[in-house]
Amino acid sequence: MRATSLNPHVVTLGTAGGPRWWTGVHAGKRAGISTAVVVGDAVYLVDAGSGVGNQLMKAGFSVGNLRGIFLTHLHSDHCIDLASLAIFGLFTLRHDQKPIRIIGPGDRGALPARSPRAVVAPKPLFPEQPTPGTTVMFEHLMRAHATDLNDRVIDALRPSPLDRFLPSDISIPDDIGYDPNGNPTPVGMVPFEIYRDELVTVTATLVKHPPIAPAFAFRFETAEGSVTISGDTAPCENLVRLAQGTDLLLHEAIDFDWVSRAYGNAASEEAQASMDHHRRSHTSATDAIGIAVQAGAARLALHHLVPGTAPASVWLSHADQFPGLFLVPDDLDVIPFSPVIRKEADSVPSTEMKMAASL
Ligand SMILES: [Zn+2]
Ligand SMILES: [Zn+2]
Repeated sequence: MRATSLNPHVVTLGTAGGPRWWTGVHAGKRAGISTAVVVGDAVYLVDAGSGVGNQLMKAGFSVGNLRGIFLTHLHSDHCIDLASLAIFGLFTLRHDQKPIRIIGPGDRGALPARSPRAVVAPKPLFPEQPTPGTTVMFEHLMRAHATDLNDRVIDALRPSPLDRFLPSDISIPDDIGYDPNGNPTPVGMVPFEIYRDELVTVTATLVKHPPIAPAFAFRFETAEGSVTISGDTAPCENLVRLAQGTDLLLHEAIDFDWVSRAYGNAASEEAQASMDHHRRSHTSATDAIGIAVQAGAARLALHHLVPGTAPASVWLSHADQFPGLFLVPDDLDVIPFSPVIRKEADSVPSTEMKMAASL
């Protein structure tokens, strides 16, 4: 591998998708979705799924290493451990550390349309504020823990998470025709910048994950390579544009055969509604490969695997369709995203070797 000063890489902290703890064979092998993007000494987190704090620690990092937490969308499997990062994380912050940015979607602005399968009109929770964005969600989370936090701030003189974390909502360009229900994924939109420091520039685009909106994919560009993270999405042209020529694409994948097995025979409208959601909002391994090929990505790694307990063979059966390096990482795998040069491609373990190593 080419020696670089920044050694840009990701650590796949958690690779399972879905708002649940997967049970059965292989249970517990994959934590909830979360990825560390590491550039030099800086660590940027993308999503904060179940178990993220523990996974960070196992990877050799702490909240004290984080510059930013980027949330692709506000489904709970992507942010369920945001509160624990901010509360348990207070104990590993460095004194000289700048407030950690939390950057994610704003308020949806409107409830989604009711499922056509609804027999009785479902009642929304908290109708006075039914779709809070990142900033308000963070405040609510901290309010919920105020008893604990005030003990620590007043009695133990600990810092306040309100001073050490800085949440903000991503502003969507207002000239692209975005509308959470009418046009959640404007066609042909140009990726836009959401964050920049001396090491990375992060751009975003809107992806196709109805009914949630907004749902983002992110690209981290460094002087020594780029990584693009799909978030949750059905196959999406906006993502192809964002990922154009990227050195590593991390793309979500779902096993639609499992979806059919899990819900296909269930006659209830609830089961059918769940199946509808998966089919219009997620991507098969084969389609993820197609997206990576269209984007000209040098490497493709599948993550946010649903189900989180599927054997590797489910994901690897189409590996030969991708001309570059194809990976199905385990939790805590390290994947470089410096530009591929021939020698590196030759020295990286092949898909087959990777599969053998992980079995
Ligand atoms: Zn998800
Ligand atoms: Zn989602």
